[in-house]
Order: sequence, then C-alpha cells, then structure tokens
Amino acid sequence: MRHEEVDVAVVGGGPVGWMLASELALGGVKVRVLERRTERVRQSRALTLHPRTLEVLALRGVVDRFLARGRPLPAAHYGVLDTRLDFSVLDTAFPFTLFIPQAETEALLEERARELGVDIRRGHVVTGLQQDSERVELEGTCDSGTFRVRARYVVGADGARSAVRALAGIPFPGTDSTMSLMLGDVVLAEPPSQPAISRVNQDGCLMVAPVGDGLHHRIVAVDPERTAVPQSEPVRLEELAHAARKVIGTDFGMCRPFWLSRFGNETRQATTYRQGRVFLAGDAAHIHMPAGGQGLNVGVQDAMNLGWKLAGVVRGIAPESLLDSYHRERHPVGARLIQNTLSQTALTCAFSPAGLALRETLSSLLHIPAANRALAEQISAVDVAYPDAPLPAPLGMDAAPRLVGKRLPDLGLHLDDGSRRPLYSLMHEGRWLLLQRSAASSRPALEGPWAKWTSVVSAELQGGTEELRPWSSMLIRPDGHVGYVGA
Ligand SMILES: Cc1cc2nc3c(=O)[nH]c(=O)nc-3n(C[C@H](O)[C@H](O)[C@H](O)COP(=O)(O)OP(=O)(O)OC[C@H]3O[C@@H](n4cnc5c(N)ncnc54)[C@H](O)[C@@H]3O)c2cc1C
Repeated sequence: MRHEEVDVAVVGGGPVGWMLASELALGGVKVRVLERRTERVRQSRALTLHPRTLEVLALRGVVDRFLARGRPLPAAHYGVLDTRLDFSVLDTAFPFTLFIPQAETEALLEERARELGVDIRRGHVVTGLQQDSERVELEGTCDSGTFRVRARYVVGADGARSAVRALAGIPFPGTDSTMSLMLGDVVLAEPPSQPAISRVNQDGCLMVAPVGDGLHHRIVAVDPERTAVPQSEPVRLEELAHAARKVIGTDFGMCRPFWLSRFGNETRQATTYRQGRVFLAGDAAHIHMPAGGQGLNVGVQDAMNLGWKLAGVVRGIAPESLLDSYHRERHPVGARLIQNTLSQTALTCAFSPAGLALRETLSSLLHIPAANRALAEQISAVDVAYPDAPLPAPLGMDAAPRLVGKRLPDLGLHLDDGSRRPLYSLMHEGRWLLLQRSAASSRPALEGPWAKWTSVVSAELQGGTEELRPWSSMLIRPDGHVGYVGA
C-alpha cells in the first residue's frame, strides 16, 4: 500500500478539527482531515458560542457568517442559578452568547476549511498509529479498503472516545457518569414569553431555550426519579413532558421532537496534550457535563492556540520547543473547565432543602457586580491569559509580566495614514502583528524568523485600558494575546 505524506493529519472533522485545519492551512501547512462520518450529523449537541469564541472567529474575519445565523442573548447562567451572568458588561465587541446550533457551526467551519484548501477525507476511520522521532504513521479503513498516511504531526480532534488518545497511550483519568439527564429538541405549541427560562426546585431541573433554527426549542430536564436510567435508554416525549410539568407546571405543548436523547456527567482530562508528535484538542482532551455550554468553545480555543504554533514549526519559522507551550497554556484552561462544570453540576442537581438553600445564597451573591463579572469572564473565557511567554523575546522587547499573555479585545486603531481600523481586521492572515506606536522613535529589530512571521503597523490605540498605554510597541500573537512589549 502507498504511503501518502502530509505535514499534519487532523483526525476528526468536528468543530475543533475544522478550526484547527483552517488555522494550519492559513499558516501554509499541508493538512489533511480524516473524518469517520461520510456525512455531517443533523442533530446539534452544542447551542452556544460564547464571547471569546466569537472573538477568535473575528480574528480570522469570519464571525459575521456565524452572527448572521445565530441569535444573541446578553446573559448566560452558572449552575442554573436564578441570577443570570451579565455578559453585557464584558470588555468585548461580542458581549453576548450567540445561540446557534452545532450543526450550523460545523457546517460554517467546514466550509471555511474547504475555502482554504484543506484536504478532507470523509469516511476514513483511523484505527492504528505509530510514531518515531521523525514522523507519525496512521492507518485505518475507508470505502476502498484500508489507507495509510504518514505525517510530521498528528492531532487527535476525534472527540470523547478518541482513538488517537488511546493509540498514543495518553491516560484519561477522571470519573464515570453517575447520572443521566434528558434533552429534547421539540416544537412548543405554547412557547414561553421570555427567550429562555430555567428552574431548579425540589422536583428537578428544567431549562428551555431556543435552538437557533427558529423552529425548535431545546428542553433539558433532570427528573430526580429518573437519573439512574441508563443513557442508552431512549427518551420518550411523554417522559420529558412529565419532567417539565413536575418542575414548572406546564410542558409548553411540546410536540414533534426532532431529537430526544440522554447525556451524563462523565468527567475526564488527558494527562498530557502532547505525546511526541501527537497532540490532543477539544473533547479528545477534556470531557465533562455540558454545563454552561462550554465544551465546543474551549475546544475551538484549543485549536486557535495550537494552530499557529504547529504551522510555525512545520514551516521552520519557530523552534520545536514552542509546541510544548500548547500543553502548558491549554491544560490549565481544561482543568478550570472541569472544575467549573463539576461545581455547576452540583448546583444544577441541588434538589434537597440544603441544596436549594445553597443555591439561594449563591444566587444572591451574584447580585454583587464583581462576583457576577468574575464568573461571566470565566464562562465567556475572556479572562484566559498565558503569562509565561512561549518564545524568547525578540531584540528590544520584553516579556513584561503585567501584560504578556493577556487577550486583547478588538481595540480601535488610528493608523499613520489617517485611516481607522479595528485591531482584529489586521490579524485575518494568522500572523504575528507588531503594533508600533506612531510617536515612538525606535522600532524593535525583528530579525530572522520573526521578520517572516510578522506584519508591522504604525498606529495609535483608541480606547483600551491604562496598562496598554506605556508601551511604544507591542508584538501580538496570532491568537490575539499580547506576546511582548517594547518600552
Ligand atoms: C447535550 C450536550 C450539549 C452540549 N452543549 C454545548 C454547548 O451549548 N456549548 C458548547 O460549547 N459545547 C456543548 N457541548 C459539547 C460539545 O458538543 C463538544 O464539546 C464538541 O462537539 C467537541 O467538539 P470536537 O470537535 O472536539 O469533538 P466532536 O464534535 O465529537 O467531533 C469528533 C469527530 O471525530 C470523528 N471521529 C471519531 N473517531 C474517529 C476516528 N477513529 N477516525 C476518524 N474520525 C473519527 C467523529 O466522527 C466526529 O466527527 C454539548 C454536549 C452535549 C452532549
């Protein structure tokens, strides 16, 4: 059998695989996606894109495609507490949760990967992986029999049951599922007047939200008497309606189910996101109860973090050591995701008198703006920072501890030629950006690899926080975080 050679093979064409493949293609890398399914799934697990994911899409100039198909809601929830998280106070151009079905998100991300020339092989199931110091060999099955691919690097974006993770021998410790919850995408004959509602009381938990397709509502229900039902047992519409009536006194006339399913609270995280030439991203690296609608979002952000690093190394612009910063930067984010979803699971299922009292206490604390904001920043992921610089600073620049690694919102820029542009509009190509303040007399020497990897712009910042002011130049990473600053 002939070995086909690529720079990077991405296993799994879910949202994370598509995002990563696009970032690699943008970086000039020959990338192939191997996806088991011959066609896209029509059901949508995820319904939300949170602010940082929207920023990531804006950094690449494609966010409008998503905004056009979704519905913004200015609030989110934490553990279904009555006091909502107020996203409208966040320092971002996207201070809302965008309700958009995962099927739409995947279709848009796949379309983008195709536009960028990604080599996509559907109906390809990876079953074998071997690596040495030079390359990784994948094998698997497809329509025509079997296939083999040789790649310099492989990324497992192949979901919770990741074959890549198992074949690379990466441990996935955590806890098994201890309960099952129900979901249904249904038509509501008598929909609620508010866009989304949620309730937890002694009879269970109920959440109702628009799916985003304009037709269906997503119902999520926890019936305390039915949490031991195996996830494999089909959900009956009447079972879901009964759970809703118990909690809130109506089933909203639910009918015409498009999808009924159960899910659980299995929680695990890979011990390492890199094993030699093999990387993990998205659900392959972390799984948890889908509380707060974060899994897809964090996975897409994993892809954003890994893409430019892999592209830089494959193209010989960056040293191999840069790749270790992927685990260093993203594993703690995954660990925090696990922590907050465990905490939210406990609150969502706090049906006892003591549990309900705890919910009330926390809900009242969320009226304190600073507390509300802290959790809003966490769920929206706008507070993610990477304080340890992943590369030595170029000449004349510094890894200043206060600023380095922080995410920059889409600040306004006043360019030397008199024009005004949003910062993100200068980052669509996925390159580093050297922002040189107009008044500064000297410019840092971006020699060697930096020169090939960096766009240079002279401009003044419009707006932004005080801590951005003292710097004469700022080198911004392709993922929109501050890299280095020049005084
Ligand atoms: C009920 C529910 C609700 C959710 N709601 C939200 C939400 O609102 N917001 C949110 O952010 N997240 C949510 N999530 C989580 C979200 O769905 C996942 O985090 C997301 O799908 C992960 O994307 P992924 O690309 O990592 O993996 P997946 O979407 O699982 O994609 C993996 C891909 O790999 C392919 N594959 C698997 N094995 C192989 C193989 N051996 N060879 C080739 N291909 C393979 C699969 O066919 C699949 O296409 C929810 C999850 C559930 C269960």
